[in-house]
Amino acid sequence: MATMESLIGLVNNIQRACTVLGDHGGGSEGMSLWEALPSVAVVGGQSSGKSSVLESIVGRDFLPRGSGIVTRRPLVLQLHKIEGQSEYAEFLHAPKKRFNDFAAVRKEIADETDRITGKSKQISNVPIHLSVYSPQVVDLTLIDLPGLTKVAVEGQPDSIVQDIEMMVRSYVEKPNCIILAISPANQDIATSDAIKLAREVDPTGERTFGVLTKLDLMDQGTNALDVLEGRAYRLVHPWVGIVNRSQADINKNVDMSNARRKEQEYFQSSPEYGHLAHKMGSEYLAKLLSKHLETVIRQRIPSIITLINKAIDELNAELDRIGRPVGVDGGAQLYTILELCRAFDRIFKEHLDGGRPGGDRIYAVFDHQLPAAMKKLPLDRHLSLSNVKKVICEADGYQPHLIAPEQGYRRLIDGSLGYFKGPAEASIDAVHFVLKELVRKSIAETQELKRFPSLQSDIAAAANDALERFRDESRKAVLRLVEMESTYLTVEFFRKLQMEPEKNPNNTNPPNSNSNQNVDRYTDNHLRRIGSNVTAYVNMVCETLKLTIPKAVVYCQVLQAKRALLNHFYAQIGRREKAQLGKMLDEDPSLMERREALSRRLELYKSARDEIDSVAWK
Ligand code: GDP
Ligand code: MG
Repeated sequence: MATMESLIGLVNNIQRACTVLGDHGGGSEGMSLWEALPSVAVVGGQSSGKSSVLESIVGRDFLPRGSGIVTRRPLVLQLHKIEGQSEYAEFLHAPKKRFNDFAAVRKEIADETDRITGKSKQISNVPIHLSVYSPQVVDLTLIDLPGLTKVAVEGQPDSIVQDIEMMVRSYVEKPNCIILAISPANQDIATSDAIKLAREVDPTGERTFGVLTKLDLMDQGTNALDVLEGRAYRLVHPWVGIVNRSQADINKNVDMSNARRKEQEYFQSSPEYGHLAHKMGSEYLAKLLSKHLETVIRQRIPSIITLINKAIDELNAELDRIGRPVGVDGGAQLYTILELCRAFDRIFKEHLDGGRPGGDRIYAVFDHQLPAAMKKLPLDRHLSLSNVKKVICEADGYQPHLIAPEQGYRRLIDGSLGYFKGPAEASIDAVHFVLKELVRKSIAETQELKRFPSLQSDIAAAANDALERFRDESRKAVLRLVEMESTYLTVEFFRKLQMEPEKNPNNTNPPNSNSNQNVDRYTDNHLRRIGSNVTAYVNMVCETLKLTIPKAVVYCQVLQAKRALLNHFYAQIGRREKAQLGKMLDEDPSLMERREALSRRLELYKSARDEIDSVAWK
C-alpha cells in the first residue's frame, strides 16, 4: 500500500517535471498532465489572509509581503516532510541552490516574479516552484495565487482586475483542483470573493475547503459559528477557522511556532469555539488537506496512468513519423547513414526488378528504340550501285580484282557497320537516362531520407556519379562489340554465297560461264550482286547486334547499378571523420527542435509512469 508521503511526493515530482517542460495547463493539445494532477489552490480577496494561511501551514515566514498585488505569478509550494532538524528550501529555477534563510526565499520569489513580469506589475501564469523541506510540515502541494481585487491601483493597467480573475479561474476551474477558499471573518461571508468564485466553478462544493481567517478581529459580541458550523454557507467539507498573526505580531517578529501555539490557545480558551477547538487552526487545516489530497490522488491514479499511456503512444507515433534522434557518436552516425543508403537502394532495386514502375522502360529501349534506330540507318545509300562502284574501284586501284573484290567487300562492310555505333550509343544513353530517373524517384520515395537534405543530395550525387561510370564502361563494351564485327568477318557466310547460283533473272549467262564476267569487273550486274551480298551480311550482323548490344548494356549498366550503385560511396564514407558524418546528417533545425521537445516530453511521461509504478505497488 502506498503511503501518503509517497503519493504526494509522486504528484510533487510530476508537477516539477511539468514545469520544466513548460506544461502548466491551458495547453491546446488536449488535457495536459499538469491538469490531470490534483492540486490545492489558495483563493481569496486581497488581504484576506492567504499568505498568512500558507505560511502557517508551512510554519515559516517566506512569502513576499507589501501593499498592492505582491503575488503576481502562481507559486507552486511543495512541502516535503523530512527527518532531522534542519529545514531548507529550493527553487526549481535554481536547483543547485539551497536556501536556509527564509528571508532570502522571500527575496528570491520577488526577484523571480519580476524576471518574467518585469517591474511593470503585470501578472503571468508561469508558476514559480518552491519546495520546502522541513520536519514541521506535512506533505502537501499548495498553489498561491494573486488576490482577487476590485480596482486597479498605483499605475496598474485597468485590465488587471480581469486578468487576475481569469488566471485564478484557470486554476480553480480544473476539476482536479482543490480550492482553499479564504474569507476573512470580519467581513460578511455573502461578500466573499473566494466563496463567490468557488461556487461558480464548484457548485456542489465537493472540492472546496472553506477557511475563515481573522476570527480574532470580529466585532465584540459577534461570532462566526453560523459559518463554521455550516449554516451560513454549506460545503461538503467542514469549515476551518484560523487565527493568523496580526500585523502587529508580524511587526514584533512573533515567530511561527509561537503564533501556532497562540492560535491553539485562542480556540481552546474561546467560550464560543471551545467545542470546535480540535477541528480548528492551521495545523488541523494542514492535516485535513493532506488527508484529502491523498484520497484524491488515490482516486486519480488510474486516470493519470491512462492519460500518461495515451500521451506516450501519441508521442511515439509522432516521433516515428518525424524520425528518431540520431546518436552522437561516429559509429551510430555511420550506422544511420548506411541504413538510409540501404533503404534507398532497396527502393531503387524494386524499381528495376518490378514492384515499383520504371524498370520496364529499359526493356522498351531494347525492344523498340534500338531496332527502330537501326532500321533508319542510311544503309541503302551506302550500298547503292553508285557507291558500291565507287568503293570497289577505289579499293581495286590500278589493278582490277581478279575474282572477287576482297578489299572492296571489306571496305563496304566496314563502312556499313560503322553506322551501328549511333544506335548503340543512343541505347546506352537512353538506359542511362532511365536509370538516372529511377535514382531521382527512389530518392524522393525514401521517406526516411526526407529529414536529411544533405545526405539526400549526397546519395543522389554518388548514385549519379556511379551511373556515369557505368555508362562509360558500357560505351566501351558496346563499341567494342561493333568493332569486333568489323575486324573479323564470318567467312562461312561468303563461302555459302559462292555455292549459290546467280539469282539475277537478267543474267543470260549459264552459271558456269564465269569467264564472261571476268572480262568486265565493273558491270552493273556484278556490282549489284556485290551490293546485295554486303547488304545480306550487314543484315545478319545487325540481327546479331540487336541481340548482343542489350546484353552488354544490361551487364555494364543495369546489373552494375543493381549490384554496386553506392559501393564507391560506402568506401568514401567509411574513411570519413565523425565531424563529416555529422554534417551529412544535418537536419532541418526546426525539425530537430520539434523532435527534441517531443523526446523530452516522452522522457517526462515515461519517468512519471515509472514513478507511479514504483509507488502504486508499494
Ligand atoms: P493576503 O493578501 O491574502 O495574502 O493577506 P495576508 O496574509 O498578507 O494578510 C493581510 C493582513 O492581514 C496582514 O497584515 C496580516 O497580518 C493580517 N492577518 C491575516 N490573517 C489574520 C488573522 O487571522 N488575524 C489577524 N489579526 N490578522 C490577520
Ligand atoms: Mg498575499
